[in-house]
Amino acid sequence: MNDENTSEKNDEPASDFIRAIIERDRAAGKHGGTVATRFPPEPNGYLHIGHAKSICLNFGLARQYGGRCHLRFDDTNPSKESVEYADAIIRDVQWLGWDWGEHLYYASDYFDRMYECATELIRRGKAYVCELNTEAFKEYRGVPTRPGRESPGRQRSEVDNLDLFQRMRAGEFEEGRYVLRARIDMASPNLHMRDPVIYRIKKAAHHRTGTRWTLYPMYDFAHCLSDSFEGITHSVCTLEFEVHRPLYDWILDALELHRPQQIEFARLNLTYTVMSKRKLLELVESGVADGWDDPRLPTLCGLRRRGYTPASIRDFCRRIGVTKFDGYTDVALLEHCVREELNRTAPRAMAVLDPLKVVIENWPEDRVEELEAVNNPEDAAAGTRTVPFARELYIERGDFMENPPKKFFRLAPGREVRLRYGYFIRCREAIKDPETGRIVELRCTYDPETRGGHAPDGRKVRGTIHWVSASHAHRARVRLYDRLFTAERPDDIAEGEDWKHSLNPDSRTETEVLMEPSLARALPGDRFQFERLGYFFADPVESKPGAPVFNRIVSLKGKAPS
Ligand code: ATP
Ligand code: MG
Repeated sequence: MNDENTSEKNDEPASDFIRAIIERDRAAGKHGGTVATRFPPEPNGYLHIGHAKSICLNFGLARQYGGRCHLRFDDTNPSKESVEYADAIIRDVQWLGWDWGEHLYYASDYFDRMYECATELIRRGKAYVCELNTEAFKEYRGVPTRPGRESPGRQRSEVDNLDLFQRMRAGEFEEGRYVLRARIDMASPNLHMRDPVIYRIKKAAHHRTGTRWTLYPMYDFAHCLSDSFEGITHSVCTLEFEVHRPLYDWILDALELHRPQQIEFARLNLTYTVMSKRKLLELVESGVADGWDDPRLPTLCGLRRRGYTPASIRDFCRRIGVTKFDGYTDVALLEHCVREELNRTAPRAMAVLDPLKVVIENWPEDRVEELEAVNNPEDAAAGTRTVPFARELYIERGDFMENPPKKFFRLAPGREVRLRYGYFIRCREAIKDPETGRIVELRCTYDPETRGGHAPDGRKVRGTIHWVSASHAHRARVRLYDRLFTAERPDDIAEGEDWKHSLNPDSRTETEVLMEPSLARALPGDRFQFERLGYFFADPVESKPGAPVFNRIVSLKGKAPS
């Protein structure tokens, strides 16, 4: 772990079915008792919170059992991949706090060995060159309930197959003319076993190997071989690969290579968002999102920009655990994790989002009092600061009601409320704009005996509200975020419906806050709890020292005044 919060180090997840398998293997002395896992992203997009589940699982297993976890780029499809994506993935895994040490690998580094393996399969009579076009290929493959038909290529001699495969490599044929197929079983009920394609011609430059290759291995071929070459012991992947497992095993057995154990778990789905790379790319390219790091996206760079901490994401991944059952996780759990951490660590401050002026009539015109405020009630070491109190203040408009219902315990005409770290004030009158009727100012009085928030006569007030001194307040831009989609499961749509129809038009609100003076000193990347409003992050890109721009990470639990 390379980040500030390592307290969870001794807080490994509860056991689960994967840990049970690994513990059984270790007890039996399998793989010499070692554990080697990997996280194998394809560099064709940015990582999201679902990937974090897989990252924390794989790296977490390696840490827990004293093994190693590789970061391996599964870069076998050059037309969709790029260095930009690979660099971003490296940054995100590091930010999450994981360290692969010397074990950074690229499937493309194995292209020669993979080509050799394919040739070896041909020699063993277990692969052949097939000339069927896409349409015929599908037609010959058949459907699960009926056996497929054999491709004419299946009968080709070893010599002819080797010759054609070598000429495919030499770039002699155009894309689609031939593919290399594993020779398995055209009657298998599992379509992945009906002589799957393992190599295809693709005349695209690769971001690492340039134009050296004109044919590339398919995922199913490249993946198991990469795992095997690297001595992976437990190849942990998501459930959709369960049906690929027989092929994974078949290829390695056919070549008599080390065979890791593939174990599948349920992917993470999160409510009110989408996680498919294709959909995220569409949101970015269409301008719905302001780039991959838009704080509303579930991408790791978006969560980082929003203000989420790596420790809170790891904590989330630990709490969701791993199972074999597909389901949705409530985004509220993720929010809970970051609240819980920031409640411990974030300094408090006062800021007002929707200001309503308060004039304290019995407070002398130019008197300013510095009141002591606690920086973090959860952390005594955080100390105190002072906040200026003066005759004119701002409170939150929502903390006043002209005709309050019974359960409203904040300010109303004739009612008394406590100002946080300050005095009790009582509202005498609400002044309205004569034209619009909108309340523009409250005239109040304060009780000088209540400094520090207690009345010597023991009288109680039910409400405590936050405030800032009008003449001392600093202004800052702030962005409030809501869910990106209004639908709980935006992926569950009816046939023909656009998955974007449930995009929330109000997922972002830009406004201004009036802040206590100490907040003007916030540095880019600082996090605060604005009392009663939530946790805020000084945007690392747009903030300047002395001029912060804030993103709301998450509101406080319960009802905020706005
Ligand atoms: P693609 O459709 O491009 O394959 P992908 O999200 O599966 O998208 P990969 O780069 O292949 O992208 O993913 C890397 C690893 O992360 C894989 O092992 C994959 O199983 C895992 N992964 C991807 N999405 C999730 C998810 N939502 N929850 C858990 N693991 C995931
Ligand atoms: Mg994938």
